[in-house]
Amino acid sequence: MPRFDVAIVGAGPAAIGALWGLQSAQGGSRTVAVLPGETGAGDMPRPDSTWVHPKVRKVIFEARMQRVIGQFVPTNSLGKSYYLFETACRGGLTSFWGQQFVRLLKPDFVAAMPGQTFDDYEAAFDLIEGRLGLAQPEAIDGWTLPDGFDLVIRPTTIVEPIDSFVHQFALASAGTTVIRQRLTRLERASQSYRLVFEDGEGIEAGRVILASGVIGTARILMRSVPELRHARFRDHMPVFLHSVSLGNRHCRTARRQSTNMNMASIEVTRAGQLCAFLSIYNVRKMPANLLLAHFGLPMLGALSGRNLEILPLPFYPVQTWTRDSFVEIDLERADEEIVARRCRFQDNPEGLQLARTALKACGLREIRLSPTPAGMGFHYHALQLSEDGVAYDSARSQITRLFGDDVLIVDGSVLPWLSPRPHTETLVANALISTRSMMNG
Ligand SMILES: Cc1cc2nc3c(=O)[nH]c(=O)nc-3n(C[C@H](O)[C@H](O)[C@H](O)COP(=O)(O)OP(=O)(O)OC[C@H]3O[C@@H](n4cnc5c(N)ncnc54)[C@H](O)[C@@H]3O)c2cc1C
Repeated sequence: MPRFDVAIVGAGPAAIGALWGLQSAQGGSRTVAVLPGETGAGDMPRPDSTWVHPKVRKVIFEARMQRVIGQFVPTNSLGKSYYLFETACRGGLTSFWGQQFVRLLKPDFVAAMPGQTFDDYEAAFDLIEGRLGLAQPEAIDGWTLPDGFDLVIRPTTIVEPIDSFVHQFALASAGTTVIRQRLTRLERASQSYRLVFEDGEGIEAGRVILASGVIGTARILMRSVPELRHARFRDHMPVFLHSVSLGNRHCRTARRQSTNMNMASIEVTRAGQLCAFLSIYNVRKMPANLLLAHFGLPMLGALSGRNLEILPLPFYPVQTWTRDSFVEIDLERADEEIVARRCRFQDNPEGLQLARTALKACGLREIRLSPTPAGMGFHYHALQLSEDGVAYDSARSQITRLFGDDVLIVDGSVLPWLSPRPHTETLVANALISTRSMMNG
């Protein structure tokens, strides 16, 4: 069985952060295996069902992607049946994502691992943005709202092009051994760990870094330790505030500065702490096939790459995240399947009211609110596991208890809490810092 010093499971942003962390760690050369989770297996579920998120279906249709989804997790919420899933591709969920890439603010910092400081994160953010060639955009406008709240509107920080993370993965994994296999389970051997693949083959590694996405990591742990039959994780619970405004000057400025559907963001803070994050969408940049997918209609090859530019609608969907509004989703292993059993929602009515005040202050008039079904926020975090479905423990404690200190989880599973800002830059920074400190420790 081939043996490596380190194995990294995954090829999404967290895996890239882990690879950057390895590169910046002390010590001599080491052998590294990376498993991007692609597979040659023939029986991957086909992601063309209307049970899959429309954005994901649109990307898969237009890019003619095959086998990018590992396993479905059937679920339902708000009267809708649909699938959660783990990805099976380089780039992970960023292959389908919204491309907003923003830092965590200092007052919102919560350490994912003991000993981490915000200064570590700042340095990591600088490194990450340098590698991605990103600069934070200048604010379009900002002012103070009643009760000590501050509002800022700015063009969205976007990582372009859409396959940027696939490209970053290729750069970061150069010099490592990339094994096109999916990990089924992890076993403890005497001096190392055995990583067993779907085809029964495997490798051994002295250290293992799990960057397989929250659902991917939950599935690997539940398969590796059959007693762990239950898992739960959190997702942000954004709402859409569908709004209108004729000739809005902020939107006009943002439209000129942004070519992306995610045109601008409004942030409301109090004493520097983020209370609401609103992302204003430009419907003129909405892909035509996304609209068809949204209504469950067949997408058309002739519309690939086209958007709704022709329609000068004064309509702005605004996706809105508020502090501490989340959903907790319970997963359970039933035979060999993993299914979502229950969802618990936590609303934040004051946060929503604040977001509405901010929207109005920017000259936008809300005409309708639509909630997001559980798990469709795609900001997964805070994975916990349990044997009996009653006493849960964090994925990080479980992994240390069961496998020792040489197995590390670096994806969103270990982020205990998320601020309303999209969290991908935070999880890359966490992966970088914790991988480096494991290697140096
Ligand atoms: C529609 C959409 C819009 C989004 N918009 C934004 C946004 O604007 N801003 C933002 O910050 N975030 C956004 N996100 C979230 C963002 O994509 C995720 O936070 C991020 O991709 C998570 O990174 P990750 O590396 O932890 O996991 P993932 O991206 O899920 O990657 C997991 C990796 O692990 C691999 N893997 C899984 N299981 C196995 C296995 N058993 N063996 C081997 N490999 C395995 C997969 O192939 C994949 O490469 C969005 C997501 C979606 C879907």
